[in-house]
Amino acid sequence: MSLLWIVADSVCADVLGCCGGPCRTPTVDRLAEQGTLFPRAVSAAAWTLPSLAAMLTGVYPHRLGLARWEQPWPAGRETLFDLAARAGRVVASFPFDPQFLFSRVPAARVAGSSQDTGRLLAWLREHRDRPYFAFVHYWWTHIPYLMWPLDTRRWRKATDVVLSALCAGPREREGVKRLYRHAVERFSESWLPRVLEAVDLDRTWVVIAADHGESWGERSGTDGVRQVFDLHGNDLAEEVLRVPILVRPPRGGPARRIEGIVRTVDLAPTLAELLDLGALPPDIDGASLARSVREGAPAVAADAVSVRNADFVTRLETPGSPSDLWTGYALTKPRQRLVWDVGRDAFDFFELEAQPSGTATVAERRSGEPPAALVERLRAEARRAVVGEFDAAESARTAERLKALGYLE
Ligand SMILES: [Zn+2]
Repeated sequence: MSLLWIVADSVCADVLGCCGGPCRTPTVDRLAEQGTLFPRAVSAAAWTLPSLAAMLTGVYPHRLGLARWEQPWPAGRETLFDLAARAGRVVASFPFDPQFLFSRVPAARVAGSSQDTGRLLAWLREHRDRPYFAFVHYWWTHIPYLMWPLDTRRWRKATDVVLSALCAGPREREGVKRLYRHAVERFSESWLPRVLEAVDLDRTWVVIAADHGESWGERSGTDGVRQVFDLHGNDLAEEVLRVPILVRPPRGGPARRIEGIVRTVDLAPTLAELLDLGALPPDIDGASLARSVREGAPAVAADAVSVRNADFVTRLETPGSPSDLWTGYALTKPRQRLVWDVGRDAFDFFELEAQPSGTATVAERRSGEPPAALVERLRAEARRAVVGEFDAAESARTAERLKALGYLE
């Protein structure tokens, strides 16, 4: 069997139609009706690179030490790409820009940019009858929410327009949210149907997930939105961490909806098992959700860990210690979230309250003192954190490209 795994950037669970959200997404919803939907998946990181690395290894990002695009992934750490290749699948990935994601991950076998839909479709048609493992990082749901390839200058200009609209007032902010929702709808109704047509759905697993959600500078304590990382990256809030996961088996299956907490680190062991790719090492953090997919078994994870990292995207030196790099941790349990600011050694404790059934929305309400066991759980995670390999020359080159994209000032 083949796998088409699509990660749509910045898609919050609660915007999709199948999760009770406001977007018109019948194509995504139809896949959900033929498979298993996890509306309460928790992302392992608040921005793209560490989140995707966690998905593809089953290991939390702070244990991988990855926080820059150009870092080589830890030698000896197996990814799903490695397993798939060994199991005889043709491996290909389509990141938004091959200069960034997977630029130093040879196992990803980058075959083109996801922004070149024609190339992606041609690859899928060409390999239709061969077992493959295709990973697509869909980018047009990311700010500035426009659906065409933009050169860096125009990307920067459009992003600045959106960021300044978010600062202009509530009416303009609502306008940006509408633009974002349109981008999600175009993903589902304009791009996805063409891609599915190029796939033999009787022999292919289709997985749709998101790397993180999106926030809009509305929280108290945030001092506005000045850069892309203020929308996702700097905050471990519900709207940033909650993502959808959808797994449709070949030929489709009964509609299942698993309401418990699952984690994006669970995807790697789940797909390894479902596609019979062999086992990932026993020290991974994720747990297989294959029984949920096959039988509708409840989610098993007790909690989910998420991290944010310091701005080593603009700072080119190597972080001195793990606490220099990993500046925040969140622990999500079904009804609680604990967020730890490492620098201030301060904890924020929240109760999570499900909203009316049928929607994936969860309200976060600030609560009192956190239980000591949860505090210790996060401190123990921090003791496992590492700093990966940083390469100053490579970082400087990437910083130039990022500056052009508007990620850096
Ligand atoms: Zn992203």
